[in-house]
Amino acid sequence: MPVEEMNKKISEFRHKALTEGLTKEDYYELKNLLSSINDKMLNDINYQIIRLQLINLLKLIYFHKDGVLNYNNKTVNYVKKRALILPIVLADADFNFGRFTGPNGYMILCPYHSEKTPSFRVKDYENIFNCFGCGSSGNVYDYLKLTHNMEFLEAIDFLMKVYMWKKEDADEKNHDLIIKYQKAIISPEFSELLKRCQERMQRKDLDFMPHSSTLTKDFFNDRFLMIERMKKGLADPDYIERDPAVNIKFTSKEVWAATDSTEIKELRRKRILAMDPEEFRKELNRNLKSNPEEDDESLLPF
Ligand SMILES: [Zn+2]
Repeated sequence: MPVEEMNKKISEFRHKALTEGLTKEDYYELKNLLSSINDKMLNDINYQIIRLQLINLLKLIYFHKDGVLNYNNKTVNYVKKRALILPIVLADADFNFGRFTGPNGYMILCPYHSEKTPSFRVKDYENIFNCFGCGSSGNVYDYLKLTHNMEFLEAIDFLMKVYMWKKEDADEKNHDLIIKYQKAIISPEFSELLKRCQERMQRKDLDFMPHSSTLTKDFFNDRFLMIERMKKGLADPDYIERDPAVNIKFTSKEVWAATDSTEIKELRRKRILAMDPEEFRKELNRNLKSNPEEDDESLLPF
C-alpha cells in the first residue's frame, strides 16, 4: 500500500480510537497493515514512521471475545494491585487456609494439581501465587483465568465488580461468584489475615528498612478502608464508589490523559503518539538511532 494511503488509514484509525473505540476487526486490520510492511519498505523513513504509528495504535487497545473493551493500562495495573488475591483464593478454598510459611505467605492444597501436602503459596503482600508442585504462578488475573477460565479483560471487568468499582450488569452471569468473593473480602477471617500481614511487614520495616514504614502504613490503611467501603456497599445495593483511578472506557481526549503507564508516558514524552506528522518525522529522525528498541513489537499486549 502506498504511503499516502497508509497515512490516511492511520489517521482514520486514530480518530476512531479517540472517539468510538476500535473493534476487534480494526485490530486485525492494523495487525495486517503492520505485517504488510516488509524490510525493503523500512529503508524508507515514511514506512518506518507508519510502522511506529501502527504499533502505538495497537498498544492502546485490548479486546476480548465480545469486541473491544478499551481498558487502558492504568486500569489494568490499578486493578491488579488493589484487587487482593488472598480473599479470593480463601473463598475458593472454602476458608480452609493452610499454614502461614515464613515471610511470604500462605500455603494451601493446589487447585491445579492433585496433592496431599500443600505446595500452593499465596504471597499476600505481593498479591501473587505460585505452586512448587506444578509450577503454576501468576497474579490475580492469571488466577481467575486458570480457575474460572476467564479471559484477561473479562477478569478485569469481573474484579471491578467484585471490588465495587463498577456496577454489576442487570443479567450478571457471575453474580454468585461476585457475592462469594465479596463475602470473603469483608469476612473477619480475611481482616485477621490482613492484620497479620501488616504486623509482619511492619516488623520487616523495623528490621531492615525503617524509612519504608510510611509506605507500609499507607498500603494497609488503604486496604482496610477498601474493606470498610465494601461493607458499606454491600449494605446498600445502589452504593458504588468509582475510584477516579479506575478509568473504565476511554474515549476522546481521555485516551491521552488516562494512559500513563511508563511505556506510554515515555512515548508521550517523545510526543510520538499525538504529534503533528511533520514534527513527528523530525522527532523520529532524532530518536531512531539513539533508541533502536523503541518500536519493539514484543511490547505489544498480545
Ligand atoms: Zn500445583
